[in-house]
Amino acid sequence: MAGPFLRAAVEGKESILDLADEVLEVVRTVMFCVGTPTLADLRRMPRLVGPEQSRLDTFTGSLSYASSSRGEFIDITGDVSDLVWRSGVRNGIVHVHSWHTTAAIRVNENEPLLMDDFRRMLDRLAPPGGYEHDDMERRVGVPPDEPRNGHSHCQHLLLSSSESLPVQERQLLLGPWQRVFLIELDSPRQRQVTVQVAGM
Ligand code: ZN
Repeated sequence: MAGPFLRAAVEGKESILDLADEVLEVVRTVMFCVGTPTLADLRRMPRLVGPEQSRLDTFTGSLSYASSSRGEFIDITGDVSDLVWRSGVRNGIVHVHSWHTTAAIRVNENEPLLMDDFRRMLDRLAPPGGYEHDDMERRVGVPPDEPRNGHSHCQHLLLSSSESLPVQERQLLLGPWQRVFLIELDSPRQRQVTVQVAGM
């Protein structure tokens, strides 16, 4: 692109203006032909992306948290957003995955009273105590410090290990009230989350 302008510069200001008009006309024609209302839309058109740029990029990062209580909702939105930005992926998808069977990932609103409602709902559906999983006599190879956490596993089954979210212009695409939570369903401990971003 710079070459023709440098050559026009040698010929003088008039040549540069003529060339700029010509380029503008070509861009306008292309935008009309492909139906893009703005230059930003035009840049995103797949047909204008070179073969090296069009390949799928992936990035995997990890986050670690020390939870402080059962039923804690840890808002990890900022950390996930940072990793999405650092990944360099402009448009694609991010997968947020908890490594655990008693710590879930969910999207919801960060409102403290609502957290109490969620905790009460989970305890109503799967209250602590009375699970086969907690009968250590019947389980094989159980370490001495194995927690009685049948309720935590059952609550986790109602939630999920992961969430997939859209990424646009290196940003998490969330609604105004949506936040990403790591939810501790067992006693406090260290928790690990994998964040994988894929896109172009
Ligand atoms: Zn267990």
